Amino acid sequence: MQHKENQSLNLLKEHFGYDSFRPMQAEIISHVLQGKDALVLMPTGGGKSVCYQIPALVFEGLTIVISPLIALMKDQVEALKANGISSDYLNSTQSAAEQTQIIEQARRGELKLLYIAPERLFAGDALDFLRRLNISLFAVDESHCISSWGHDFRPEYRKLGMLKDEFPNVPLVALTATADRVTRRDICKQLYIPKAKVFISSFDRPNIRLTVAPGRKKLQQIKDFIQASPGESGIIYCLSRKNTEKVAADLRNAGLSAEHYHAGCTSEHRSRIQESFVNDDVQIIVATVAFGMGIDKSNVRWVMHYNLPGNVEGFYQEIGRAGRDGVAANALLFFSYGDIFQRRKMIDDSPSSEEQKEVLRAKLERMKQYAEAQICRRRILLSYFNESVTEDCGNCDVCLNPPKLIDATVLAQKALSAIARTGENVALGMLIDILRGSRNQVLLSKGYDRLPTFGVGHDLRYEEWADYIMQMLNAGAIDIAYDEAHNFKLNEQSRAILKGRQKLRLSSFISYTERQEKMNAKTVNVVTEDLPVDENLFVQLKFLRKELANEHRVPPYVIFHDASLKAMASFRPQTEAHMLHMTGVGEQKMKRFGFDFLSKIRAYCEANNLGAAEVKLVSSKKPKPKVNTYQETLELYDKGLSIESIAEQRTLSINTIYTHLVKLKEEGQAIDLKRFVSRKTYQKVIDVAKELEIKPSDPLKPLFEKLEGQISYGEIRMALMIGEEG
Ligand code: ADP
Ligand code: ZN
Repeated sequence: MQHKENQSLNLLKEHFGYDSFRPMQAEIISHVLQGKDALVLMPTGGGKSVCYQIPALVFEGLTIVISPLIALMKDQVEALKANGISSDYLNSTQSAAEQTQIIEQARRGELKLLYIAPERLFAGDALDFLRRLNISLFAVDESHCISSWGHDFRPEYRKLGMLKDEFPNVPLVALTATADRVTRRDICKQLYIPKAKVFISSFDRPNIRLTVAPGRKKLQQIKDFIQASPGESGIIYCLSRKNTEKVAADLRNAGLSAEHYHAGCTSEHRSRIQESFVNDDVQIIVATVAFGMGIDKSNVRWVMHYNLPGNVEGFYQEIGRAGRDGVAANALLFFSYGDIFQRRKMIDDSPSSEEQKEVLRAKLERMKQYAEAQICRRRILLSYFNESVTEDCGNCDVCLNPPKLIDATVLAQKALSAIARTGENVALGMLIDILRGSRNQVLLSKGYDRLPTFGVGHDLRYEEWADYIMQMLNAGAIDIAYDEAHNFKLNEQSRAILKGRQKLRLSSFISYTERQEKMNAKTVNVVTEDLPVDENLFVQLKFLRKELANEHRVPPYVIFHDASLKAMASFRPQTEAHMLHMTGVGEQKMKRFGFDFLSKIRAYCEANNLGAAEVKLVSSKKPKPKVNTYQETLELYDKGLSIESIAEQRTLSINTIYTHLVKLKEEGQAIDLKRFVSRKTYQKVIDVAKELEIKPSDPLKPLFEKLEGQISYGEIRMALMIGEEG
């Protein structure tokens, strides 16, 4: 036994370049090596594949991997080959001749792993063909697809029950990232592995930072987020196909590299987009949930949900696509009440049975609880997967910015009274205008300026009111009539608060930018803890990886994961032996690609008078060395270029250039801002700023919103600065 364990560990090092197993991997492998069945539950990115790939290497014969996704197979097989493991796949994309050749290879015992799609497995004589092979192990990936209780039922999976019938002595390991109990039991039942040992690894993915943001001005928030981490791959999930197209187009218009993806696209479009994403040629994919299952890209740095997902399993699986390499990643969910309403309606209108609808509603409710949470979000997620957690995670928005509760009774009374006085006939925008005493046309025409509540809330900014009213809604202190122009309605609780019979506590308002700033100050980097990454070297290594990937026609991460490059850029290894200590650098990869990277690192060190990094270095809190992006903009400005040309030359958005110029001006550079803002725009901004009593140092969001998004933040800031200069 000891011998086998050592053997597994050696194989892990040799083929995958990892020093140790992750939690559960070793137990699972040892169990499978004893020829026993298993059900493995691990989160996406948890490291399921190794659990059958190592046994495949130890066993004498062939391991058959059933996987529903054709694109994933190709990538997995490529990654295995890069690690020196002979493997191949069979699916409908191949010609008959190709398939025959692969089958021959399998028969001759030349393959360790063979991936097959379920529909291919049961086509024609496939079972016959299986019988003639020396099979040591079956692995059923995405095994929740067999259960109609799971969230991705595939009827062709049902037939997999036959495997145990036909090959009762061959161990079978089922793997999934979906964890709920009903599905779990159903998988074992359908696959005829009732005695399978169930392994449940922790579902925690501590490197993924969890954030929920209000679902307003989403596009702006997305752009701000992306600008803060330029060039990093990410996925935006939308509910509707139409929306994916619109959001992708908007992002492209903002100068970003984005494409849409949904089940209605042609298969050419889909595979092209998927490929360019995997190859780092497209930065952002805006997709429906149809995207991702077939993607095994380890350096997705962020995942956003444009709309609220229908259940926690799906949500968790989707965000799990970020940061598979263990490096810090982000999951941002936009939450609005409209989404809940729409989801509920989708359930009501669906053809499911009443019993199933109840399940769907309960699942949606859990998702809503996550979005509204005032306690550590990771605790909520993990408790959903029946894990008990005793500590806050320190890496979600709630932990990083614990809500400060205030007595909001008076504030709420103002809002409730305004709602009552209008005969429960106003929605969010108008309500805030009444409270803040704005004199807009519609408001005046309805005579709302004569209400006693008119202007009683002028001390709060627009966005503050919006936030508090949403919180009231979350707390059940008001209702909203979606079928009646989203007007607010009073309920029992509202009346109790109005009458002073009940108090209301809400969390003190904190603006999105403030929150981001606070959160950015606390970045954690799980992989390179205490070792700063040399960003310049990292960029060079990424370039080299891209070159090699193009040359070998494989996705970049097949060469090395981000985590490996980051380790190299931190430690700057100088020898082969040192290189083999880097995470993800095994012997095979060292032989194939390692020396190229080694030469690159050595050359870099020589040019910069550096050696290998000392292992105990100073803390990582030191700020990243910033390429001086402002200076570059200044140089182009000095040449007399227009904002548009500067943006184009720098491949940055116009808005970013505006921000640069304002910053340069603040730093005392001679920038003539008037060159960039028209008289009309200037006047509009100044007028509204006066009306809202906004100073240049205040957050600009209310101004931006008041101007209905027609004038960019950059221009607003410039106009205010010109105003200050007089
Ligand atoms: P899953 O199939 O569970 O989503 P994968 O099997 O694709 O996850 O593994 C996710 C990532 O973790 C891969 O990049 C893999 O190489 C890496 N990985 C797996 N096991 C280990 C380990 N023991 N140490 C370090 N990285 C690992
Ligand atoms: Zn937390």
